Amino acid sequence: MTIRIGVIGTGAIGADHARRINQTLTGGKVVAVTDVNREQAEAVVDRLQLDAKVYDNGHDLIAAADVDAVLVTSWGPTHEEFVVAAIKAGKYVFCEKPLATTAQGCFNIVEAEQAAGKRLVQVGFMRPYDSGYRQLKACIDAGDIGEPLMIHAAHRNPTVPERYITEMAIHDTLIHELDVFRWLLNDDYKSAQVIFPRKTRYTHSQLADPQIVLLETVKGTRIDVEVFVNCQYGYDIQCSVVGEEGIANLPEPQSLLMRKGAKLSNEILMDWKDRFIAAYDVELQDFLDGCNAGQMRGASSWDGLAAAVAADACVKAQQTGQIEAIEMPPRPAFYA
Ligand code: NAP
Repeated sequence: MTIRIGVIGTGAIGADHARRINQTLTGGKVVAVTDVNREQAEAVVDRLQLDAKVYDNGHDLIAAADVDAVLVTSWGPTHEEFVVAAIKAGKYVFCEKPLATTAQGCFNIVEAEQAAGKRLVQVGFMRPYDSGYRQLKACIDAGDIGEPLMIHAAHRNPTVPERYITEMAIHDTLIHELDVFRWLLNDDYKSAQVIFPRKTRYTHSQLADPQIVLLETVKGTRIDVEVFVNCQYGYDIQCSVVGEEGIANLPEPQSLLMRKGAKLSNEILMDWKDRFIAAYDVELQDFLDGCNAGQMRGASSWDGLAAAVAADACVKAQQTGQIEAIEMPPRPAFYA
């Protein structure tokens, strides 16, 4: 069966997901779009040659009888409202990260989903679909490096726009690491601390860049993540898991090895869209397949909540300079 999809928010990732649904994946078709900027939604329909109706707002799109499932790819602060509305309409919903911008917002979604009696939400955490992270997880799960003791990681972007401020290093950037480490380690977080090194001259007054986030898990694994979003040289994701018997590193993305001008070199990607392009494809295919099978399989609302609880503690740690506790409520059987 072809799942008829409505897309709320046709910006960078909304347009990219609409393209992959119609041109790359199977089992789905975009039939409806909306954006606060209607002209942008119309331009995306034209550019991608979508056979899709442009709606005035997300709520009308969700209510449309010919929309089977919804993609929420608008700004983070609008996610909660649209995800809850889709749940209440009994429709499957794929929500880009963050599920909601606060832990309370995620709680509201978790409650609405439980009241609906069935998992309807998949959160857009794509790293567990990346082949490199999957290799890392398989290695840890097989016990190849013994019990994981430490993770050293880095999340580096070449540059960010002026509107990107200190807190966004957590809510927009680190949120991916907060999700993927829980999944890699099969563990939850216990505490967070944020340390600010000397600022790069490429940042602005509202952004402390770089930052080092120190996390401790319930089992006692220690994690340090460098978040450096004006690193200039590329989009670079690093993850090294130190175990009792060995170290496993996230594979580098495949790239040409070149010998030229007395140098041996590899290109480094500049754009996040290219780094995880295959993972986005597998992730959204899983969503379409889940809609068809009547069962969601990717990151759940509970995973979205767990990342948000940890993110809130990290933001508090940015402000206090202290080690802040991360307290997860007990996981309901619904999300076992
Ligand atoms: P973007 O380019 O700014 O696109 C967001 C779009 O949503 C814009 O076109 C915006 O309209 C529109 N919008 C805002 N409020 C709306 C509303 N109430 N109803 C309908 N449309 C609305 O941002 P983006 O980079 O695509 O990011 C969108 C979301 O995806 C964010 O939550 C972001 O964190 C997430 N994201 C995830 C990944 C990932 O790796 N998983 C990567 C990128 C982004 P105007 O701009 O016209 O006002």
